[in-house]
Amino acid sequence: MSSDSKTPDNLSVVRRQEPPASATRSLVTPIFPSVVFRAEDADALDAVYEGRAQGYSYAREGHPNASLLADKLSWMEGVEAGVVTSSGMSAISAVLLGLLKAGDHIVAGNQLYGRCLRLLTKELPRLGFEATLVDASDAAAVAAAIRPETKFLLVEVVANPTLRVADIKGLAKLAKDRGLIFVVDNTFTTPRGFRPFEHGADVVVHSVTKLLAGHSDATLGYVAAKDPAHHQAINDAVVTWGLNASPFDCWLAERGLNTFELRFDRAQENAKALADHLRGLSGVKLVLYPGEEDHPDKALARDLLQGNYSHMVSFELAVDRSGGRDGVNRFLRAASNIAFAPTLGDVGTTISHPASSSHRGLSEEERLSLGISEGFIRVSVGIEDIELLKREFTAAVAAMAQGEN
Ligand SMILES: *Cc1c(COP(=O)(O)O)cnc(C)c1O
Repeated sequence: MSSDSKTPDNLSVVRRQEPPASATRSLVTPIFPSVVFRAEDADALDAVYEGRAQGYSYAREGHPNASLLADKLSWMEGVEAGVVTSSGMSAISAVLLGLLKAGDHIVAGNQLYGRCLRLLTKELPRLGFEATLVDASDAAAVAAAIRPETKFLLVEVVANPTLRVADIKGLAKLAKDRGLIFVVDNTFTTPRGFRPFEHGADVVVHSVTKLLAGHSDATLGYVAAKDPAHHQAINDAVVTWGLNASPFDCWLAERGLNTFELRFDRAQENAKALADHLRGLSGVKLVLYPGEEDHPDKALARDLLQGNYSHMVSFELAVDRSGGRDGVNRFLRAASNIAFAPTLGDVGTTISHPASSSHRGLSEEERLSLGISEGFIRVSVGIEDIELLKREFTAAVAAMAQGEN
């Protein structure tokens, strides 16, 4: 047999060939779907495993598309290193699996993302962890929930869906004084609005699925820790529990990030204008936008976010007379050009109705205690022409109100 691998008698359709040589390089990041990476010999593989050489071995342990995306997000958050995961929930799971041991206790905000609340209250107890949920805008209430076995604090900067603002500075101080790991979900605010590591966070998580990737076509998460030992433990949890992200999703998110800053600025500008507009409509009872005069945490919001109140607006439809649901349905049907879809962060505006989606698992009483009535609507404001949005919301609220009479 010839020693030249390119001679015809050594060719096989099952053998891969190197890509063609090129004096030019692709402008766009290639997608690396390869599950595995080949090494020259066992010593070369050793060097990769031992970190003496940069390289990949098996895609669950890392691949170029995940590295490129993680590096960009880490740069945006101002942290040395981070890990991309298969979803925002798997990013949160990686923190729990990497940093907790049985018997540990968590204090968390009581207005977290719905699945996260479920994870804390339904899944963790099965595994021997416990969580206490408290109002994260009230550092004294959080302090009162801390026990000797409390390991960390978990909050969202701006919480879903009532847009309450956590007392990040107070909680950071508390975590430091009491030796707790301070975990911040920065999904709603994004690093363009707020950078938690600059305010005392130890770990930051994101659902990259939302505004960062921005096009509702990739489900991804990101997690970063300031302490290298935490980073290592979280990364090990991702690799071992199999929470890794797909190359194609990473590639989509990296492409989405190219326009993230423009999208954020436009969506935020639209959100503020829409909040002001909704306030003037007679079928609307209450409008929530952080930082505005009537927001319950306006002082916290102004201090922390410095005007970057992001792209989420919530409001309450005046649907009392129709018992709620009928009025909500009239509104949603009349707003048929705006997607009624339980997500956020898309380029286009989406509306969700927490009572029937993210918070349907709670009793009506529990929902009301959080401020979520039947008429409560959450809007993820997109980058459309604001005049179009104002017209559509005006018409939909009017259609709702007509049926109330
Ligand atoms: C969506 C979301 C999550 C979960 O992210 P997925 O990518 O859907 O798994 C976690 N936290 C917040 C604040 C979210 O909005």
